[in-house]
Amino acid sequence: MRLLLVEDEELLGRTVRDGLAEQGHAVTLVRTGVEGLVTASSGRFDVVILDIMLPGLSGYRVLRELRTARIWTPVLMLTAKDGEFDEADAFDLGADDYLTKPFSFLVLLARLRALQRRGRRARPTLLVVDDLVLDPARHTVRRGDSSITTTPTEFALLEFLMRRADEVVGKAEILEAVWDPHYEGDQNIVEVYVGHLRRKIDVPFGRSTIQTVRGVGYRLAGTGG
Ligand code: CA
Repeated sequence: MRLLLVEDEELLGRTVRDGLAEQGHAVTLVRTGVEGLVTASSGRFDVVILDIMLPGLSGYRVLRELRTARIWTPVLMLTAKDGEFDEADAFDLGADDYLTKPFSFLVLLARLRALQRRGRRARPTLLVVDDLVLDPARHTVRRGDSSITTTPTEFALLEFLMRRADEVVGKAEILEAVWDPHYEGDQNIVEVYVGHLRRKIDVPFGRSTIQTVRGVGYRLAGTGG
């Protein structure tokens, strides 16, 4: 198997890498979240073994970025025993399995084999902002108990804004991501579609999830954002 191990603890990292290499696996070891993200994004691995507590970018963030970028390599998360790990969070973010440290090497091998057998499956996670839920796989949107019908463009725009929740995104960036990259028409089309979306996901519910950031673009944010 081609394995990527993202682990900042020197001894543990080397021990696991050497043990896996002895079993005939090709192991790449990196020590920070950023390196893990870059390496996982560019390389082809059968499984990524991802520690959660990493300097800089946490394992959670790495996992979220990978799934957002539609990289579906199976991820096995390594967690400390301190209870900071939230199993539900990890699975929501698209983790495939997890192991609590300290773990037995034989158990690790067995889990890796199981993940390899399962392979990479596109399982987009639900995008959730407050009670607004978008399911990329089933192409559905709902606010609380109300299901909301959208056109394909509205759906793509909402998915883009939800994937970038709490960030301000510019019109040009939205156009490039949601419309054809060669679209050369009026940028105001973004405004028009934001208006359509607001009338569907916000106005009927007395909400203002999609905010206009004057002169810059838009930000989709929950009540906490
Ligand atoms: Ca660590």
